[in-house]
Amino acid sequence: MSLSRNQFLKMFGLGALAAGSKAYALPPAAAETQRAAAGKLKIKAVDIFLFDIPLAVPFRIAIGEMKAANLLLVRIHTDQGLVGLGEACPFPPITGETQATNAAAARAVRDVIVGKDPLAIDGLLRGLGPLVHSNPSAVAAFDMALHDILGKVAGLPLFRLFGGSERSFETDITAGLDTPAAMAERIRGFVRDGYRTVKVKVGLDPDEDVARLQAIRDAVGYEVGIRIDANQGWSVPQAVYALRKMEKLRIEFCEQPVRASDTAGLRAVRAQSPISIMADESLFVPADAVRLIMAEACDSFNIKVMKAGGLLNSIRIAHVADAANMRCMVGCMLDSKLALTAAAHVAASQANIVYADLDGNSEHVTDPVVGGMTVKGGMITLPESPGLGCDIDPAFLKKLTKI
Ligand SMILES: [Mg+2]
Repeated sequence: MSLSRNQFLKMFGLGALAAGSKAYALPPAAAETQRAAAGKLKIKAVDIFLFDIPLAVPFRIAIGEMKAANLLLVRIHTDQGLVGLGEACPFPPITGETQATNAAAARAVRDVIVGKDPLAIDGLLRGLGPLVHSNPSAVAAFDMALHDILGKVAGLPLFRLFGGSERSFETDITAGLDTPAAMAERIRGFVRDGYRTVKVKVGLDPDEDVARLQAIRDAVGYEVGIRIDANQGWSVPQAVYALRKMEKLRIEFCEQPVRASDTAGLRAVRAQSPISIMADESLFVPADAVRLIMAEACDSFNIKVMKAGGLLNSIRIAHVADAANMRCMVGCMLDSKLALTAAAHVAASQANIVYADLDGNSEHVTDPVVGGMTVKGGMITLPESPGLGCDIDPAFLKKLTKI
């Protein structure tokens, strides 16, 4: 008996896959051409652009303030006409990089990868060596662009290529540091916009931080999910004091209560806190995940593409966490919709990534990205187009400085 692919899938109860596949499959001729190109592709050229997007409201956290997203766009061209896009969003208070250091790193990466096979992603990234430690966001931009090409060759959106099936999921939205009243008002607005979960920045004076959370609960009640992020702002005793006082305010988890380098401190807070602890700034690359698990220093991870140096390392961290029965969130810096969409593809692809904090462009005054993820009432939906599913507005691109 010979079966068509759709008959075969239906036989195993996979009719939805058979039907759904039509939504994202390339026309057969185009798909065949691209698959034939695999293994023969070469990186012909790499364009690097710098661009800034001002924020409508400055973003303040315990360790710094940002007034604009200072970004870098990487566009990789193959010899067969395929184009991959990637973005770096250096966030100096957290990663120590700047747009200028990312630009220098990106030029160096360009020199190394031109002429190479864009689909040999693991080898290309390993070839960059420890650059991921000094300029993870620059490496992330290249990793993203290479995966964009991979998805286009495969004819699949990245979340499907990475093994996911659901393209919609919930994200929270973040309120930066301000007075208790101002933060409560801001969060009331988020809830009006349909968000069911919010993230609240803390990490200053513990009593004031408790007052912030109390004001927010008073404003929105207890139906709204609240998670907090101290961004390394507390000492160990301050963290234990604040988290015990916040227990009655029903907090989902607390990100990075103490300094990034203080693994013992993180472990001590976790041991004494009634609220679950998530590592963020303590976790950049997969080796950090192993170290934190072995130290029993946290309950969960906040994976960020910019800290990890790309999608591949982000997924590796999720795998390490999964092996330790640990759940993850995918977060962001002040990314534009391009890098946010890349992060969303990671989030949608891994079962143990159960939280998302992908709101980096919520205060951007412009959105230069065409396509990509959509956000409505706190729900992200990914596109079904191959690769990242994003492009840059050509009119915007024309105005950028190429380096
Ligand atoms: Mg954080």
